[in-house]
Amino acid sequence: MDLRFPEAEPTLAEVQALDAVLGPSTVAEGWERERGGAHAADAKRHLLLGALHALQDRVGWISPGGLGELSRRLDVPPAEAYGVASFYAMFALEERSLRTVHVCADLACQTRGAGALLDALEAECGAGSFTPSPCLGLCERAPAVLVTEAGNPPHEAVIAPADVAAVAVAIRSGIQPAMVEAAVVDALPQAASTRDQLVLLRRVGLVDPASLDDYRAHGGYQALRAAVAMGATQVIAEVTESNLVGRGGAAFPAGRKWAAVAGQAVRPHYIVCNADESEPGTFKDRAVIEGDPFSLIESMTIAAFATGCEHGYVYLRGEYPRARQTLQHAIDTARHHGYLGPDVMQLGFAFDIEIVRGAGAYICGEETAIFNSIEGYRGEPRSKPPFPVEVGLFAKPTVVNNVETLVNVVPIITRGGAAFAATGTSVSTGTKIFCVSGNVAVPGVYEVPFGATLRELIDLAGGVNEGRSLQAVLLGGAAGSFVRADEIDFALTLEGARAHGTTLGSGVVMVLDDTVDMPTFLRRIAAFFRDESCGQCVPCRVGTVRQEEAMIRLTIGPRQPHDMALLRDVGQAMKDASICGLGQTAWSAIESAIDRLGVLR
Ligand code: SF4
Repeated sequence: MDLRFPEAEPTLAEVQALDAVLGPSTVAEGWERERGGAHAADAKRHLLLGALHALQDRVGWISPGGLGELSRRLDVPPAEAYGVASFYAMFALEERSLRTVHVCADLACQTRGAGALLDALEAECGAGSFTPSPCLGLCERAPAVLVTEAGNPPHEAVIAPADVAAVAVAIRSGIQPAMVEAAVVDALPQAASTRDQLVLLRRVGLVDPASLDDYRAHGGYQALRAAVAMGATQVIAEVTESNLVGRGGAAFPAGRKWAAVAGQAVRPHYIVCNADESEPGTFKDRAVIEGDPFSLIESMTIAAFATGCEHGYVYLRGEYPRARQTLQHAIDTARHHGYLGPDVMQLGFAFDIEIVRGAGAYICGEETAIFNSIEGYRGEPRSKPPFPVEVGLFAKPTVVNNVETLVNVVPIITRGGAAFAATGTSVSTGTKIFCVSGNVAVPGVYEVPFGATLRELIDLAGGVNEGRSLQAVLLGGAAGSFVRADEIDFALTLEGARAHGTTLGSGVVMVLDDTVDMPTFLRRIAAFFRDESCGQCVPCRVGTVRQEEAMIRLTIGPRQPHDMALLRDVGQAMKDASICGLGQTAWSAIESAIDRLGVLR
């Protein structure tokens, strides 16, 4: 693919798919393109990601004819459109069947039989009949499978936990009516005795996520009224007093971020909710969105009111079809009833929300990579400074918070910042949602006050699988670090984790029993980072490849005497010189496995 438009023509189905998201192509549009030049093209570029989804949803892949037509309509050079399409794992640029069966081969599923499932499927149906996939975010029901069927309309279904027989049926006969996802409450197995601890998840499983009335009956939208009554300045003061910090891993104070955006004279301001959560082992945002979507909408509306944003985006992980449908229905309902729109609840301010569907790129969980992705570019991180609070989405001041951070806002406004801060410790205030997966009796999302110990959390999830002993816990996901079985009595707080030489990250707690083969597990981590590096900077682009090569030699052979030294050198170089957190943490888990667990010694 180059700067020339391909000779291939789009099919009628591809034209119709593009018409549905871009509107019909007209002669006048072509004239406007001629006259408008680069400015007109910029104005439409943000439609690129959605249009790529539309093509793939309709015909199952991004064909040269479809891509060429899309490039023409959006005035994007074909080479650039190809560069964007090829950036995302979910887009296919080679023709394939309408049905794709994605079988998760990632960390949590690996602890619960994904390897055996993949081998059995290969024997039963053939290697080309399914696609091994990175984490699907269904870790509490591992091993997991996502089935997509292109068409008009397209269909998606989840099989989790998956067995060979059910997946073979999907491969041969497609999505069956019985392939219905488990109820969202299954992701929240917290025992009744500890449910009174729930703050952020208190409505999940209790309210009907499709009903605005039910949400209001459970206290919904009282916080927004209170926020408007106290005024934007006081809202930010309450959030600052609460000491709420970002729950995505960076732990930046939310109040400081909001104040910085609110103080910018440049307009408009944007708010972006990061719901990409593609760290292997993370699935809490899905549980919140599927179970209590209006709480996210209300929280974003409060944040928008406080910081002067009129438009918000939810950047939602591409592998979450039900979360997307649930949230879209909630947004449409809120808009229909005046809870979003030009005069929110007749309170005198405008705000609306749009969902942007990710397409399978881990790096798009990085805040500036999200901006590029929404704007229709490859999801590569930007250099900072300038920081998003000054120059963010569409070069305007932007608030970026993840789902869990945002849903803390409702209890902060309802109770007051000081009361919120009374839970937890002085540094880590409030409660924290953890995604407990792997070899525990009852995987799922668990919400506990900051300060509970890792052992208490594992016990809450029913402990290690019966009859097995704990080998290690992976905290924080692939970008986190391992903890030994004799180290699990420390408090799960930001400061407790730091003092223990580890991190809470995005809240991943992956429990590994003595059946897990650590070299295989570590090779998967190395392969993950090699695959997910965006390739923009040399230390990470080259380092993740060298790291994986060294890991293969060290764990499969032939082992070279200098491989361990090479691994450490490469790891340190990535940590010191990579542009963003992906490269900086690509070596963390492997380093901790070597130094704390004694693997590869
Ligand atoms: Fe891309 Fe890796 Fe560099 Fe981040 S560190 S910008 S993911 S190449």
